[in-house]
Formats: sequence, C-alpha cells, structure tokens
Amino acid sequence: MYDVAIVGAGPAGATLARLLSGRCRVLLLHHQRKKCCGGILTPESQKMLAKLDLALPREALAAPQPSCVAVWDLQSQLVRHYARQYVNIDREIFDRWLVSLIPADVDIRTDTVYRRSQLVGNDCLEIFFTEKKELRSERVRFLVGADGSSSTVRREFFVEKPLPKRYAAIQEWFDLSAVLPENFKQTGIDFRNDYVGIFDSAITNFYAWMIPKNEQIIFGGAIPQGNRTREMFERLRIKLNKIGFRFDNSFRREAGMLFRPLNPWSICLGSERVFLIGEAAGLISPSSAEGISPALTSAYYLAQTFGVNGFNSSAYHKNLRLLRWQLWLKTAKIPVMFYPWLRKQVMLTGLTALDRDL
Ligand SMILES: Cc1cc2nc3c(=O)[nH]c(=O)nc-3n(C[C@H](O)[C@H](O)[C@H](O)COP(=O)(O)OP(=O)(O)OC[C@H]3O[C@@H](n4cnc5c(N)ncnc54)[C@H](O)[C@@H]3O)c2cc1C
Repeated sequence: MYDVAIVGAGPAGATLARLLSGRCRVLLLHHQRKKCCGGILTPESQKMLAKLDLALPREALAAPQPSCVAVWDLQSQLVRHYARQYVNIDREIFDRWLVSLIPADVDIRTDTVYRRSQLVGNDCLEIFFTEKKELRSERVRFLVGADGSSSTVRREFFVEKPLPKRYAAIQEWFDLSAVLPENFKQTGIDFRNDYVGIFDSAITNFYAWMIPKNEQIIFGGAIPQGNRTREMFERLRIKLNKIGFRFDNSFRREAGMLFRPLNPWSICLGSERVFLIGEAAGLISPSSAEGISPALTSAYYLAQTFGVNGFNSSAYHKNLRLLRWQLWLKTAKIPVMFYPWLRKQVMLTGLTALDRDL
C-alpha cells in the first residue's frame, strides 16, 4: 500500500514526488512523451526554481537567451519590443533533469499509463494502470493528478467542474538559416535572437510564436479547439510565407492541448483523497500560456500540507489563493493584448516599449 500515487512526471509531478520522498511511500506513474512546449522559463519560474533550491544544469539551457519579447501585430503591422528576463531551455532535458532529482525511495513506474480508480472502504483507493502494456493495480491512500491538460484524473473525479477553455497548440521546427526572409530586418524583429509573439485575430483569439532554439526555430500557435484548427495554422503559414518566410519543410511537428482558464471556476484543486496540481488543475497563465511556474508552485504548496493524516485539503486551497489571484489578474491584460483595436492603440503609444535599432 502506498501513501500517495502521482499520475504524470512533468514539472508538477516530478517536483511533488521529490518533495514527498522520505516522508511517505510514493508511487509515480510516468508516461513519457515529448512535450509540445516553447521552453521559456519566465521570471516566476526562475524564482520558483530558486525557492526549490534548484540550479538549472547547463545542458538544459538553449541558445540564444532572449533579452526581450517582440510583439508583432500582423493586422496593423506594428512591432514593439518589451524587456523580459526569460530563460530559453530545452524542455525535454529540463523534464528529464527534474525526474533525475527524485530520490530512489520513490517508486517510479516508467512507460505506465493511469486508467482509473475505485474506492475501497473509506480511506483507500485501488488504482488501475497499464504498465508496459499490462493492466496492474495498487492500493493508495491519496491520488494526485499531475497529468497535464488531458488529465484523466480530473475527468474521472471532477466531471462536474467546468474545464478551462481548450486550445490546440501546433508547433513545427525548422533550421533557422533556411526559413528567414533575406530582408527580415525590415520587419524590425531580430528573429535570430528575439522571442516573438504574433497576434492576428483572423487566425486566433490567443497568439502564435517564433522561438529561436540552438540554430533552429520553433514556429507555433495556439488556436481554439475545433475543426478548423489545422486550417487556421495553415493560413498563418501562408501569410508569413507571402512576406518571405519559408516555413515549408519542418523536420519536427508536434501538437498538444492547452488549457486557458478564463474564469476562476475552471481551476480545480481537488479535495479529500484526490488532488490536482499543475495544468491538470487549470493552473496556467490565461494571457501567456506560461505553465511551468504554476506547476512547480502547486506541487510545492501541496507537499507542504502533507502530515500524519495525509494532505490537508483546506491548507492546500489556502496556500494557492495567491497564485489563483495572480492568474485571475492576468485575465485583466486580455482586452489589451487580444482585442485588435485596443492592442493597436497601446502599441502606438509605445508605452513601456524599448527603443530598438537592428
Ligand atoms: C505549445 C505549448 C507551449 C508552451 N510553452 C510554454 C513555455 O514556453 N513556458 C511555460 O512556462 N509553459 C509553457 N507551456 C505550458 C506548459 O508546458 C505546461 O503548463 C506545463 O508543462 C504543465 O506542467 P505539468 O507538470 O502540470 O503537466 P505536463 O508537463 O503536461 O506533464 C504531465 C505529464 O503527465 C503525463 N500523463 C498524462 N496522462 C497520463 C496518464 N494517464 N498516465 C501517466 N502519465 C500521464 C504526460 O505524458 C506528461 O508527462 C506551453 C504549452 C504548450 C502546449
């Protein structure tokens, strides 16, 4: 019998497993997949890593390190640069590093997919999972869903809670030297060094991006889930190719689902025997899709509540009040960032923008 089973070993699950090790018997179900991610650590993520006493290993860093974000409004053709202290990482190495920090007393089952659970008496759950294609089960006192935006645990236990708005994220990888227009400096953006946010309400009510990474570039976008997702992404590709980009032959394509919690009710932390952390709980920025810091933060605060009686549900909810507020406040930025007319007016003022010559 385990005290805690954690489903998913992304930043949230791996961090919780590490923090609970030595305090109780932990089972971590780890279904490894390549994560579709921009690989940007915001200042909040960097602060959280420092709070967890973790120093990023050199191998997890990607080049270049952007000093600013370039906001490119495709409809008004305006460009503005804003100073941001982001860290550019290799997401796959970052995730593997977090798992490598988990002490040996945690039972990590790799290649394992959680399926479902059933209650056994009042204080125990039997969880079922496929381990190397075989169906197995274990008894546990607590279950934690750290299984991201496609969370099985959330859908199984909290079906009555509304899900956050869902977006399909598509990313393609290219060799940087092969895709840039010859005259790219005319756009006012240094695509070799800047993190670029692309805004075009004819394509999506969220945003698209270009991120240079180790002589390569990621071209991606988040588009409301529906049957025209691929078509919208293609439209964006055509628009960019018309102005000289050559986004034709990607060497890697990836897709994933993204939560966008536009109201506080779509955040669900769980209670009693079953808890949610990270994106499974809906903890992700609705304005930027930054989800690594909320994943680390929620894991940290859930671990803090663990005592002889297991997790303390009300303490976890209380600990996360500030984070929920911070995420909720980010929705205030949405009209300015995502409504074309308002965005254009703000960009025209140049308020807080950098004066930048290429
Ligand atoms: C395209 C895109 C770009 C993004 N870019 C950024 C960025 O630049 N910076 C940033 O901070 N955030 C970014 N995000 C958000 C960020 O990736 C997530 O919010 C963050 O990874 C959440 O961490 P997590 O641990 O909660 O979940 P995840 O990282 O999603 O980890 C969940 C894990 O659970 C596993 N899993 C799922 N179901 C099961 C199951 N049934 N059994 C066992 N395992 C299971 C998955 O395989 C995965 O390994 C981006 C998201 C997308 C889609």
